[in-house]
Amino acid sequence: NMKGGTEMLKKIKSKGKSKGDIGGGSFQNMGLHPSLLRSLTLQGYRTPTPIQRASIPALLASPPRDLVGMARTGSGKTLAYMVPLVQRLGGRHAHTFGARAIILVPARELATQVVKVGKALVRGWTNDAAQHAGDDIEDSSNKKGESLRWSLIVGGEGLDEQFEMISNNPDIIIATPGRLLHLIVEMSLSLSSVQYVVFDEADRLFELGFATALTEILARLPVSRQTLLFSATLPKSLVEFAKAGLSDPKLVRLDAES
Ligand code: ADP
Ligand code: MG
Repeated sequence: NMKGGTEMLKKIKSKGKSKGDIGGGSFQNMGLHPSLLRSLTLQGYRTPTPIQRASIPALLASPPRDLVGMARTGSGKTLAYMVPLVQRLGGRHAHTFGARAIILVPARELATQVVKVGKALVRGWTNDAAQHAGDDIEDSSNKKGESLRWSLIVGGEGLDEQFEMISNNPDIIIATPGRLLHLIVEMSLSLSSVQYVVFDEADRLFELGFATALTEILARLPVSRQTLLFSATLPKSLVEFAKAGLSDPKLVRLDAES
């Protein structure tokens, strides 16, 4: 579903100077849920970083579009995907069956960090704000407004506990590829309700030898989904993977100093 083979690389190379030229210049201009805005402010995030400025509005645009985000380590890539993700999930647990989002990361420490960032974003969510018109998902059965449920599926944890976590109907799964694939294959974990997929630190996912597991996971995801890939570098193997797993992605590449 992508055009020519070298097309993507060419596009990426021509995108070198795209700093801040896309989307609103502040969190206030991005159409974010009031609870999300309040949470960002309370945590001291005053202005979006360049990768956030480019990615957040793009990811919230309609119809949903895939995105490859490339920016150096420390440039704020976590919020670049977590803010749109939380907004799209409406900040609340859905009583529908199955996870709606999956975030794949190379290591358990990173998984823990990512969950912290996500939970902090929904902490101040209020029922009032949950009726905001911008919500993607209206779930009238969720009157109590239970917060999003997160599951950590990472290597080195007990399999039984992780199966329990999965049985708890999480909204978002944060996983390392090997362990997630194990749960899919050995414990029949279904990914059929997944609408959003994030590959975080994608270059490291590949360096650590997860390519095969990732391809296996891709094959089990619904075709209709929004897929994001974030990375500090974009080696050729990753471009190939993105071509297979993402559909006509928007490319956001920022210079080293951004
Ligand atoms: P990356 O994933 O690109 O390496 P992180 O998402 O881990 O970067 O963010 C790096 C640091 O920058 C974190 O400490 C984070 O809290 C901080 N940060 C992220 N976005 C902002 C922002 N908009 N304003 C201030 N600090 C931010
Ligand atoms: Mg990161």
